[in-house]
Amino acid sequence: MSNIVAIVGRPNVGKSTLFNRFLERREAIVDSTAGVTRDRHYGKSDWNGVEFTVIDTGGYEVDTEDAFQGEIIKQVELAVDEATSIIFMLNVAEGLTDTDIEIHEMLRRANKPLYIVVNKADSAREELAATEFYQLGISKYYTMSSATGSGTGELLDDIVKDF
Ligand code: GDP
Ligand code: MG
Repeated sequence: MSNIVAIVGRPNVGKSTLFNRFLERREAIVDSTAGVTRDRHYGKSDWNGVEFTVIDTGGYEVDTEDAFQGEIIKQVELAVDEATSIIFMLNVAEGLTDTDIEIHEMLRRANKPLYIVVNKADSAREELAATEFYQLGISKYYTMSSATGSGTGELLDDIVKDF
């Protein structure tokens, strides 16, 4: 069975930055099928020799939170259907939002391995601020700076361990 890891979250949290980092040594596979339901990027990656497919979700024309509201349920449902593991990305620079809570509720119901990632944790100050995400009722999150790559190794170790 193939392992498919989807990255979901609000616009601008850093999903595509992480996606591109996963594909560093690979060529991105762009799915050219037209239409919103195919508004995702697929790529191949591997970690310590374990291969997986990664899906970057999120509309490419959509750049505002308001516009995203209509798409969010669709994108999360599609990711939940297709993925075997899900990365839910949050942005510590913006903090916890109602949309984050809504996405988390959907993902929790999916009953698939779920990894909560607090991105843009670029320094110790943000690492501390990340504790606010415990309000989601979660017992673990991964702090990360997708921009620099710090924190990605620990996440990938755990994801491939659960395959
Ligand atoms: P997406 O909309 O969720 O796909 O987010 P993008 O990957 O397009 O990133 C949105 C913006 O956040 C871009 O300007 C990125 O350079 C920036 N960004 C992504 N990851 C980080 C990070 O770890 N730290 C900081 N400071 N900025 C980041
Ligand atoms: Mg993106």
